[in-house]
Amino acid sequence: MKWTAILSWLLVSSRADHLPVLPVAMNLFDRFAVACLPLVPRFIVRRLSTRYIAGEQMNQALTVGKNLQQAGYLVTYDILGEAVDHREGVTAAAEEYHRLLEALVEQNLELNISLKPTQMGLNISEGFCFETIARIAEKAKKQGAFMRYEMEDSDTTDATLRVFQQLRSSFGDTIGCVVQSMLRRTVQDCKDLVASDLPLNVRLVKGIYVEPEAIAYQSSNDVNTAYLDSLRVLLEGGAFVGLATHDPALILGAREIIQSIPGSEDRVEVQMLLGVQENLRNELKMSGMPVRVYIPFGTQWYPYVSRRLKKNPRLARYAMMGLFAPKEKLAPLSGQSSEE
Ligand SMILES: Cc1cc2nc3c(=O)[nH]c(=O)nc-3n(C[C@H](O)[C@H](O)[C@H](O)COP(=O)(O)OP(=O)(O)OC[C@H]3O[C@@H](n4cnc5c(N)ncnc54)[C@H](O)[C@@H]3O)c2cc1C
Repeated sequence: MKWTAILSWLLVSSRADHLPVLPVAMNLFDRFAVACLPLVPRFIVRRLSTRYIAGEQMNQALTVGKNLQQAGYLVTYDILGEAVDHREGVTAAAEEYHRLLEALVEQNLELNISLKPTQMGLNISEGFCFETIARIAEKAKKQGAFMRYEMEDSDTTDATLRVFQQLRSSFGDTIGCVVQSMLRRTVQDCKDLVASDLPLNVRLVKGIYVEPEAIAYQSSNDVNTAYLDSLRVLLEGGAFVGLATHDPALILGAREIIQSIPGSEDRVEVQMLLGVQENLRNELKMSGMPVRVYIPFGTQWYPYVSRRLKKNPRLARYAMMGLFAPKEKLAPLSGQSSEE
């Protein structure tokens, strides 16, 4: 891999975040923007989020996925929706996932989906959530698809991991989980996860939810240290790890760990959200690192966007900046070097 290219990209691209005067003003701006969110007309919020959401319709997401695949990326599809509190809503969301799997097969696209525990009924009961996902997983297994069972706020961590262990026992490498390095418990969770002989596929994230200090690291240094500690535990334990981050410093830290564990290079990929850090994404892909792009779509974009903005005010600024960033041109795989 051309890690030197990534390092030089890191040095150039991260300069704005390191200007000493900016953080306080930025923070105030972020909080102000989020406080104003309820006053912002829906079409403007929609406009702000276009870069990050493939569309409301499945076909729009499939077109985005197809283009990304042709440009040499791996993909995963996420149907927006969370915190569903009634069975009918969960059943409807699950049916959408069944339709998604069928459409991916029909169109010969990569079979990889991501779903949220509370979208699949975790708020109703763990048993109901397991049964709902198990039905999707049966179909996914027959098709050779992979499912990522995601992680939400800390109130759901224990239940999510319990349901995951059940799913993992039944469906093996068809299903993977997510752990959040911001939670103080996560290094231990990783140790527990690798203790079993079952195959393990983990997406490692910092965590999007705002959590109290008692259970979560608050400084980015601590979150990053825990991220790399978790990565080491997972790779030494034989897991496949999706490094889901846009943070170049973390990717460089991960490189050192990967290089120190023989054979682990084949058990990692980078994962990034649609529309985020496209230059870094491209650099990584060109260096030979497998990169998976997360493609969210669906009608439930407003609660998703507003909840995310409220929980992480910095996203307001990223979204505004995204409006003015040029739209990425994807080159087909055969023409990568000339276009990109
Ligand atoms: C594929 C994928 C799946 C995820 N799944 C989960 C999950 O299941 N549960 C969960 O809690 N969290 C999930 N997350 C979110 C994750 O926890 C982080 O909140 C998010 O990735 C931002 O952290 P970072 O590691 O990119 O570092 P940061 O330090 O937050 O970001 C690094 C740099 O990336 C850029 N950036 C980051 N986010 C954005 C954005 N939205 N828009 C524009 N620029 C941005 C900024 O330039 C920033 O300086 C997922 C993230 C990814 C990439």
